[in-house]
Amino acid sequence: MAEKRELALLRLLAEWVEGVGVEGVLGSEFLRGTWDGADGEQRAAVLTRLAWRARHAEVRHRGTHDASRVAVWAVQEAAVWHRASTLADASFRLPVGQLAWIASEVQMEAAVRLVVAGRTGVLPPAPYRCAVCGTDRCLQVRSYERGSGPGREELRCAVCAGLPADPEEIPEAVDAICRRVPRSRAEGC
Ligand SMILES: [Zn+2]
Repeated sequence: MAEKRELALLRLLAEWVEGVGVEGVLGSEFLRGTWDGADGEQRAAVLTRLAWRARHAEVRHRGTHDASRVAVWAVQEAAVWHRASTLADASFRLPVGQLAWIASEVQMEAAVRLVVAGRTGVLPPAPYRCAVCGTDRCLQVRSYERGSGPGREELRCAVCAGLPADPEEIPEAVDAICRRVPRSRAEGC
């Protein structure tokens, strides 16, 4: 029964990506509701199947927002598993425990990216948007180290590039000043 639901979800995503494209899928309340209604194990199973299908996909773009990072990770997990001849392909699974920390909507966007990667052979780039304010102008990749685990990369505009790495660390006063920067100045770079 669980397997049936996971296959239905997989088919639904693939058909919608084909029919309305990535943005159409992400904007669909129906699909989001269906995805949220699945439990963590079912979503992990869908992501596992999609990652496996996309295991040969080229990772040409850096993961610079949450969903693209999850998608890059999933493809790389599958690729590593596939290359390791001692591991049976059929037993590949993305770890449910690690996915449990990732918000449902981020998982869904990652799943959509994996559908595209499986189909085109290339993992799509992250949306061209600043990670803090969402503008699509003057973006640069910003890399930063973390205390443990891999470093992180994200897109920042020229204004937001000077802010602390984690938006939650931004003091309110700084945040307020940034919001007052006139759009024309932010664009003039
Ligand atoms: Zn910005």
